Amino acid sequence: MILTQFQTVGQELFTKGLVSSHSGNLSIRMGERVTITRRNCGLGCLEEHDLIETGLSKNDRNTPLASTELAVHRAIYRETSASAIVHAHPPHAVALSLTDTEIIPTDTEGMSLLCKVPVLGWNMEVKSGGLADIIARALKQCRIVMVHGHGSFAIGQLLEEAHNYTASLEESCQVTCLLKSLQVGVPKK
Ligand SMILES: [Zn+2]
Repeated sequence: MILTQFQTVGQELFTKGLVSSHSGNLSIRMGERVTITRRNCGLGCLEEHDLIETGLSKNDRNTPLASTELAVHRAIYRETSASAIVHAHPPHAVALSLTDTEIIPTDTEGMSLLCKVPVLGWNMEVKSGGLADIIARALKQCRIVMVHGHGSFAIGQLLEEAHNYTASLEESCQVTCLLKSLQVGVPKK
């Protein structure tokens, strides 16, 4: 049951190009336990042994097997009411994260689903598991944030919900990038 949820969302992210062969990670929280994808696994073809269950706060023998972003996932669960997290590398959103300090959706769906999406980590060294507290605090205000030049973190009650915010942000960023390439700019409201 849990595996099916991970597989469905992992395949969707991979098929849409929102993660590459071994990037991105997914997790769900149940009480004091977190189930997260394995370090360096491919989200497009998840199997039972790719799901690692460990403590929300406490380390155990499974902890070293977990995704390198475990620290960020744990911080988000501690700070928010999220039950699921999707971390992806949506290419158009990553491109905009290198030029903008916040991303404002331009398409109708993006505007209704997402608010202003902050870009975190400007002028900071971004490494796996870094910025955990900054990302977690920002996700108290919005459902998805971008890390400068890296990727997105989205929250939801289900993985599917967090995936929807990720796909919606990428679609919106693709439109913005197309507008910029046409040099017409983003229409002012
Ligand atoms: Zn990443």
